[in-house]
Amino acid sequence: MGLQRSPSSKQKVRSFLKAAKDENKSDLSTDMRTPHLSDPCINIEPISLDLSYNSWVVDHPSALGSFDRMMKAAKGKRMVVFLDYDGTLSPIVDNPDRAFMSDEMRAAVLEVAKYFPTAIISGRSRAKVKEFVKLSNVYYAGSHGMDIMAPPRRVKSTDGKHHTAAGLDRKESEVPFQPAKKFLPAIQEILTKLEEKTKAIQGVRIEDNSFCVSVHFRQVREEDYDLLEERVKSVVESYPEFHLTEGKMVLEVRPSITWNKGHALEYLLETLGFSNSSDVLPVYIGDDRTDEDAFKVIRSRGQGYPIIVSSNPKDTSALFSLQDPSEVLTFLSRLARWKNLGLGSRRKKRKLGFLCINYGKEGSIYVDK
Ligand SMILES: [Mg+2]
Repeated sequence: MGLQRSPSSKQKVRSFLKAAKDENKSDLSTDMRTPHLSDPCINIEPISLDLSYNSWVVDHPSALGSFDRMMKAAKGKRMVVFLDYDGTLSPIVDNPDRAFMSDEMRAAVLEVAKYFPTAIISGRSRAKVKEFVKLSNVYYAGSHGMDIMAPPRRVKSTDGKHHTAAGLDRKESEVPFQPAKKFLPAIQEILTKLEEKTKAIQGVRIEDNSFCVSVHFRQVREEDYDLLEERVKSVVESYPEFHLTEGKMVLEVRPSITWNKGHALEYLLETLGFSNSSDVLPVYIGDDRTDEDAFKVIRSRGQGYPIIVSSNPKDTSALFSLQDPSEVLTFLSRLARWKNLGLGSRRKKRKLGFLCINYGKEGSIYVDK
């Protein structure tokens, strides 16, 4: 139980919360293995940050700069798109209830989902992220993948073929998959206790994410970090089947089951019918530590594009990078346009073929028009 560090080291816990605040101010990840701004012995000037980023981006090239190369390698493959929400499709904001995505971003995701199976995998509750995204042509996985709405798992019948709920349209055939369902009563208890124990600390926001509870401390005063840490831990310690994880200015209480965003990605690939496809190319775009599990799954598959959203160097399993949600928007727009142009040119070729059959060489005149 506890934060992912030695539970006996209170000092380390304190420095995590302070480092998280530094991360918020400087947007420099606490994951970074190179010198950290909070280290009192090191004075890193902005120019050093630029140099550090420039060196990091060599290993994690921009997905925009690499776009043509990526799409060339994707030809003939079936791309499936996975998107985190906060910090990827929406900006990180002080009030998590107001992390709205822009209309432009929504239009871009809508377009992408027209051409590729697309799923949003978020730490928020599934209902909350759906409320933010407001699209019906994407799949939703909330609570870090512990609450997925997708087609049912395919079953292999005696004829050796896989079957799903044939005859139903896509939405009718979707069913929830909730591997942490048995923890729901305990989660509600934890939520109530956390609200009670932290209500005196100014700026704390407790968010019910259905299968996990988030304690946002973005607006908590730095001098209250230790108190908050202590109170959250005192609640979680009474529940041995739960543990704490860390995100961007948020502590999360989660059931201790072996299930994360990486498992959710695999589950969705399977239920969408791609688990055994050698030509499937998953694209995953995310900005936080919890997205690393999905990046690792893609890397272990040997095919796909794990893309981290970060404007600063950080330790990651992603292969490509985008600096911020505005670059995510550009990438998604280009992806949809690339597919649309590809389909357009195939339609045009088919049409030209038809004209040539009917008009012989005259068909070429049509091209000039
Ligand atoms: Mg995120």
